[in-house]
Amino acid sequence: MPVATQGTIKGLSVDEVEAAGGRMMLSNAYHLYLRPGDMGVRALGGLHAFTRWPGPMLTDSGGFQVFSLAKLRAVTEDGVEFRSHLDGSLHQYTPESVMRVERNLGADVIMQLDELIAGGAEHDASRAAMERSLRWLERCRVEFDRITRDGREPAPPYTVSSDAPPLATADPEFDLPAPEQALFPIVQGGTHADLRRASIAGVLGTGDWHGIAVGGLSVGEAKADMYRTLEWCEPLLPRTKPRYLMGVGFPDDLIEGVRRGIDLFDCVVPTRIGRHGTAFTPDGTAQVRQSSYRMDRRPLVDGCACPACTRYDRAYLRHLFASGEMLGLRLLALHNVTFLLAIMSDARAALHAGTFTSWSAEWLGRYRAKGARQHDEELAVADS
Ligand SMILES: [Zn+2]
Repeated sequence: MPVATQGTIKGLSVDEVEAAGGRMMLSNAYHLYLRPGDMGVRALGGLHAFTRWPGPMLTDSGGFQVFSLAKLRAVTEDGVEFRSHLDGSLHQYTPESVMRVERNLGADVIMQLDELIAGGAEHDASRAAMERSLRWLERCRVEFDRITRDGREPAPPYTVSSDAPPLATADPEFDLPAPEQALFPIVQGGTHADLRRASIAGVLGTGDWHGIAVGGLSVGEAKADMYRTLEWCEPLLPRTKPRYLMGVGFPDDLIEGVRRGIDLFDCVVPTRIGRHGTAFTPDGTAQVRQSSYRMDRRPLVDGCACPACTRYDRAYLRHLFASGEMLGLRLLALHNVTFLLAIMSDARAALHAGTFTSWSAEWLGRYRAKGARQHDEELAVADS
């Protein structure tokens, strides 16, 4: 899932994301709750109508942003009190309020509120957060079901000019019932095998979920710990449900995740590193500002179907970045998103063909062999 934190994949139109092979998009409930507000999005027809994204959407609860971005005031059993990173205003996130926000936003898949702790946290702290996340899951489920049954609260009236397109809230019959959505639970437990098992048992014991997320990884722990944790979870997660590894999305992590039974990923990395001139290639990342690209007429990545690679060469991309032209940022974001989606498409094809083991070994071998050396060269370029 390409990440549209603020309801847009930075720099790209929904048509471009679709053309790049995007099927499902992720947005963030924390950011949209603060601006423009979940009621505002709902009044404008919900997240699909608001963003014009025709495909499936998922909203993260925003718990991660509350714990990482906002100024935390207090974390209690009831919920989290925090100050907005935008204007310092005081807010409270509870499992119930997060469900109301996400049901107002209207994505197809919505995430529970969970408690986050630092990667590699001690056993006691990991257990406390994992157990609290299970209790919060139950509260999310109860509120989710209540909204399904009773409908959403009436939205405040919005004043619009008479020639504006109709708002969803103008029609209570359409507006008050919540859209059909799936609530995903999040498996927690840090990098501790017993806690991950207990978390999965707790999650599976409380509902027949449409899908299950694995959270609390890629938050500073070693990659080997992340892979091992996925190996503990894999045999316990139902094979018939989509499994979503949250916040993970470097090329090698995607393939290692698929190897360990993961179906869904999200990560802001492709657009974030793209803005800094870093491109994914089959041989690791490459910095387009590098001097060797100055007169290089070759495409950024041979065989890549994105516009940056089919229409332009390395010399032009380097020039765009050297000149601070915004087309450079857009093209690189487009390339990186296309590149990751192509990996997943190739992985699916290899799985269907029964060649995933050899395909993934070959892919990772090439990516890692040159990748490490290239990374060092880039650092040298960046320093010079
Ligand atoms: Zn490309």
